[in-house]
Amino acid sequence: MKTALVLGAGGFIGGQMVNRLKSEGYWVRGVDLKSHEFQTTQADEFLLGDLTHQDFAAQAMDRDFDEVYQFAADMGGAGYIFTGDHDAAIMQNSAQINLNVLARAHHHSFGRIFYASSACIYPQENQEDPDNPVCSEHSAYPAHPDSEYGWEKLFSERLYLSAARQYGLTVRIARYHNIFGPNGTWEGGREKAPAALCRKVAETPDGGSIDVWGDGLQTRSFLYIDECIEATRRFTASDFEGPVNIGSDEMISINDLARMAIDLSGKSLTITNIPGPQGVRGRTSDNSLIQQELGWSPDAPLRDGMSRTYDWINTQVQNR
Ligand code: NAD
Repeated sequence: MKTALVLGAGGFIGGQMVNRLKSEGYWVRGVDLKSHEFQTTQADEFLLGDLTHQDFAAQAMDRDFDEVYQFAADMGGAGYIFTGDHDAAIMQNSAQINLNVLARAHHHSFGRIFYASSACIYPQENQEDPDNPVCSEHSAYPAHPDSEYGWEKLFSERLYLSAARQYGLTVRIARYHNIFGPNGTWEGGREKAPAALCRKVAETPDGGSIDVWGDGLQTRSFLYIDECIEATRRFTASDFEGPVNIGSDEMISINDLARMAIDLSGKSLTITNIPGPQGVRGRTSDNSLIQQELGWSPDAPLRDGMSRTYDWINTQVQNR
């Protein structure tokens, strides 16, 4: 039986990865600071603890694994990573986790290590035009991410790539672009745009108005969680090391995303644009490389994923 370790298994993507690996017959150990808030883990073992601590990291990685999925990070949406209030914690905690993972890779055999990097590594000056952002993999350097979160991700990409070169580890690095769907954080300050907008729409009575940060003309693309997991599994099994984008190229403005959520709710709501953290003006996934290397591209329209996400968040709001 193949074995997998999922770090960050109590989180959104890690939780879904555990489900997927179990459905494929893996023996899975999940590790996180916290249990999953929205589902009972299917992991064969689930260890609760802080991976920034070397002793706990040693306990979590005390044996060989065929595959290690590293999703654990101090992260959140724009309200968490772009305010500047959490910069030191984001950099120190996430970098320390990655250092600890690589330190353990010297003691045990990890067949493949998948690392979840981010679109936030791309230079901010390439993302000033909301209609034509440049996010091709080779555009990452010269580096100039717009957040410390992005700098840490870029640094950690280099940690894994250098370990692959010097110690012969097999690593796979993906740069995720805005993954969304049910069972993710939807309130509390770490939620991302799709979840935050669905929550605001679900909370607002018919005829009301929802706040949208910035002028709402900033653009992004969003990848549904099931497609993210499928692409990640295919990529990890492939011979391609990356870094590679895993995202959607269906670009939409934040105001239009809000309008989509409103439309799905069946309510009549208006949008009020207010000052708030918003990041770069435009960002979307360039999928040329993953298409070329893996023959993969996402096929579910954004609206389908938003529909499922709105229904789930609406249920959470009604059951509060
Ligand atoms: P998430 O916050 O839901 O999951 C991260 C998990 O890591 C959380 O459950 C958290 O408790 C855990 N964690 C944090 N610090 C820890 C520590 N010290 N010890 C143990 N566990 C710890 O986030 P997610 O959306 O599932 O993202 C997973 C990974 O993908 C992260 O590395 C993130 O940076 C990356 N990523 C996500 C997106 C996205 O849109 N969701 C985009 C780009 C990159």
